[in-house]
Amino acid sequence: MNGSSAPMAGVLGWPVRHSLSPRLHGHWLKRYDLPGSYEHLPVPPELFEGYVRALATNGYAGANVTLPHKEAALALCDEVDPAARAIGAVNTLIFRDGRIEGQNSDAFGFLESLRQDLPAWKPSTGPAVVLGAGGAARAIVFALKSAGVSEIRVVNRSAARAERLVADFGSSVTARPWTAAGLVDTCLLVNATSLGMAGQPPLELDLQSLPSTAAVADIVYQPLRTELLSRASAAGHATMDGLGMLLHQARPGFEAWFSHRPEVDAALRAAVLEGLT
Ligand code: NDP
Repeated sequence: MNGSSAPMAGVLGWPVRHSLSPRLHGHWLKRYDLPGSYEHLPVPPELFEGYVRALATNGYAGANVTLPHKEAALALCDEVDPAARAIGAVNTLIFRDGRIEGQNSDAFGFLESLRQDLPAWKPSTGPAVVLGAGGAARAIVFALKSAGVSEIRVVNRSAARAERLVADFGSSVTARPWTAAGLVDTCLLVNATSLGMAGQPPLELDLQSLPSTAAVADIVYQPLRTELLSRASAAGHATMDGLGMLLHQARPGFEAWFSHRPEVDAALRAAVLEGLT
């Protein structure tokens, strides 16, 4: 804690050293010449709740939350936004008037990234296929559903996990097996699994039946140019990498803590990319 009245925030995780959030928020603080600080806040699960309450009473404006604390964060909030409630996880805490508010900004980040990086894609264009049923996939299904996509197909290795997601999100969301992903009339394909990430198995999905007009997004950002995106791009699809979602999801927290609406631009992208190499 810096002992000044300048706003303080940070990212809670265990481990958390790898988090790019301090680099990202630090870039914005410098760029907008704002007083304040943002740091790594390592805390093990058994100390999480007490640590958050101590931050809240010791002058912190709030924090981001990363693995493994996102569900624990949801449980301790006095209030949470509809996205966090539906997704079942909180990634942004705001300490205000003695209360702890929780938000999930991943869905916002994904939609803003789509708006910036795939401007030609419109929710009304047609069905979307989401690969994965973990935390990130839940955020993406929530985002697409709230944007007005009328049919979302969830494809996941574990059928039970996909069925749980489908049960939580209603009849516009259906579960499909990998072998029948239903790409033939898909307008947006999103990889929200960890397949294709450095150190993980490759994502094996035949794109041949995907219409050439369909856009392909991959939220994996290590590597930035995944094999899926390379194949999609070579086949003529518009593509979007995972960095935009990572950058845009940080905006609501920054604005709440430091009272300035930040922008995602080439300079921020370059600053964060430097941390990825
Ligand atoms: P989870 O652990 O919650 O989910 C992982 C998903 O990947 C599940 O659907 C899982 O399937 C699937 N998966 C993992 N290994 C395999 C495999 N060998 N074969 C088939 N499917 C597999 O992780 P998250 O949802 O939090 O994150 C997923 C990815 O998204 C990560 O790479 C993460 O870095 C990235 N991400 C990017 C963000 C961004 O801002 N760009 C934000 C958040 C995450 P199953 O259910 O069967 O285990």
